[in-house]
Amino acid sequence: MIAKLIRAMLLLVDWGRCMTLEMKTSCEQCLAALDMAGFAYICSYECTFCEACGEQMSLVCPNCGGELVIRPCRSSS
Ligand SMILES: [Zn+2]
Ligand SMILES: [Zn+2]
Repeated sequence: MIAKLIRAMLLLVDWGRCMTLEMKTSCEQCLAALDMAGFAYICSYECTFCEACGEQMSLVCPNCGGELVIRPCRSSS
């Protein structure tokens, strides 16, 4: 019951973060254009990288040392 509630709250937080994320349109490493609906890596400071660069950097952000995660937002249509 409580676990469910926490889960729902986390989802809300995630969604809120989603809405405030500045969606960058290019990889900060190789400047390749990123498809908004496509696959990209982002760190907690919103450095954004393409798939190839993210994997090349072993999922560690070269700018801030943060962990790169798959960008949560995808445009849904
Ligand atoms: Zn790149
Ligand atoms: Zn970073």
